[in-house]
Amino acid sequence: MNSFNELGLAAPIARALADEKYEIPTPIQAQAIPPILERHDLVGIAQTGTGKTAAFALPIINHLLTHRLRAEQRACRVLILSPTRELSGQILESFRTYGRHVRLTTALAIGGVPIGRQVRSLINGVDVLVATPGRLLDLMQSNAVRLDRIEVFVLDEADRMLDMGFIRDIRKIVAKLPAKRQTLFFSATMPGEIEQLAGEMLRDPVRVAVTPQAKTADRVDQRIVHVDRADKAGLLAELLKSETVDRALVFTRTKHGADKVVRSLEKAGIRAEAIHGNKSQNNRERALANFRSGRVRTLIATDIAARGIDVDGVSHVFNYDLPNIAESYVHRIGRTARAGAEGIAISFCDREEMPYLRDIEKLIKLQIPSSDRRRNKSAAPQAAGDGHPHRSQRQPRNGRGHGKRHGRPEGRQDNHGHGRPHQQAQAQHREPSHPNNGKIESVAFMQRKRKPNRHPANGAERPVH
Ligand code: AMP
Repeated sequence: MNSFNELGLAAPIARALADEKYEIPTPIQAQAIPPILERHDLVGIAQTGTGKTAAFALPIINHLLTHRLRAEQRACRVLILSPTRELSGQILESFRTYGRHVRLTTALAIGGVPIGRQVRSLINGVDVLVATPGRLLDLMQSNAVRLDRIEVFVLDEADRMLDMGFIRDIRKIVAKLPAKRQTLFFSATMPGEIEQLAGEMLRDPVRVAVTPQAKTADRVDQRIVHVDRADKAGLLAELLKSETVDRALVFTRTKHGADKVVRSLEKAGIRAEAIHGNKSQNNRERALANFRSGRVRTLIATDIAARGIDVDGVSHVFNYDLPNIAESYVHRIGRTARAGAEGIAISFCDREEMPYLRDIEKLIKLQIPSSDRRRNKSAAPQAAGDGHPHRSQRQPRNGRGHGKRHGRPEGRQDNHGHGRPHQQAQAQHREPSHPNNGKIESVAFMQRKRKPNRHPANGAERPVH
């Protein structure tokens, strides 16, 4: 599929796509738009960053355009459920963008803001309602919205809905939908519970899948820096001061951690803002708007808050903390390298995070090039050499470390519930081989390279030390 023209979308939609300079449909768009236009139910396995919003928004707008009806009072014709406020806002924005030459009525129903305005926006009915599950249930309970006129129902990021505990809410909402409807179901992964939910909600769906999740990592230039926990803040400030960072998204595991990073960067003279669940909706929106406009170059986020953040031009993702769920790593680094662009992901790994690193490398089937900024490098084993079958061919080792058992298992591994003392004890010890003793030449380290983390067996591309 080389052009949107082949999809047969109505002229006002094609015009909006031209305004946006979209020329070629992304794989999920090429696969999903035709069956959705034919009014099939659909399961789309795709994550954010693949163009999936347009994959459902374009054919839905086409349907609304070709079946012009006035929405009834308090009713909506299209309902989109998304897990977070940010993602909901962005989906609505996409409908407005792609539908700018079509007369569409839209509304947003998300928590964290007063409900009154949302109730008023629904009084006359709307074409498209984008909602988070909790707020939609509140509106349903107060009879501010009715779902019996829904023609198209979209469940976006179903797996994240499961993670966030929304599945019961979703079942309650689905129970109120008319049986005769089109259902579009999107999820980045399809664990058993999600598969079951899809089975309950969809009729004879077409299934489309794009790039298995782990593959996203291919487009991102990834690096690991082994660093002592106490030195992470200083290292982040140092790397952010590099001129090559246009816009950086920094991930922390906790809300508290996000605020701490903001404070430490401010001390270093770097303006940054945090976005997480303890911030008010207004606060989050302001931070996101500042980031989008470039007024603030660095945004610190937790996984949940960052879900669905769609900002073009994120040149760098920093994992200040490694996520304890390997899939989150793929989601995080997918914030850069959006829609085919390239990006850089730099992850800090302290001693306690080694097992997380192993899980991530196993998932993405790639050993991430690393450098070592720890003060006492000999005190801990590296992540390498722990049962990745391909590692012995791919991992260039220096002579000294090769094949040696490390004398001391990592002291605190056993304590954090994830530890694998046996593997730790077997891990290989690797001395930094670089003459500057592992110190990163920060600018060189951050230069963009095409797929530098491929390690061909001939050793053409080597890890950074
Ligand atoms: P999504 O996966 O829906 O979050 O989309 C990711 C990004 O890709 C958004 O910034 C879209 O504006 C952009 N995008 C979506 N489809 C296309 C396309 N066909 N051509 C260029 N950019 C696109």
